[in-house]
Amino acid sequence: MQKCPKCGKYMEEGCLNSGGGRILWSRDRNRMSSWPTPDDVVLHKHLRVKSSTTAYICKKCRLVIVEY
Ligand SMILES: [Zn+2]
Repeated sequence: MQKCPKCGKYMEEGCLNSGGGRILWSRDRNRMSSWPTPDDVVLHKHLRVKSSTTAYICKKCRLVIVEY
């Protein structure tokens, strides 16, 4: 478990998915990023990372920690 460096609460584990010209955070590792759900967070529309990168998110602080 990863704690948020800002508020100290546990962060939600998911991953960054790239595809369709954008990156989003999602709980589901293999989801198509072209179809975001309300639970997903689109980070950047024109940035590319390797697909399925583990990432922790704190939606309250709007903070994402990415392992690469
Ligand atoms: Zn936080």
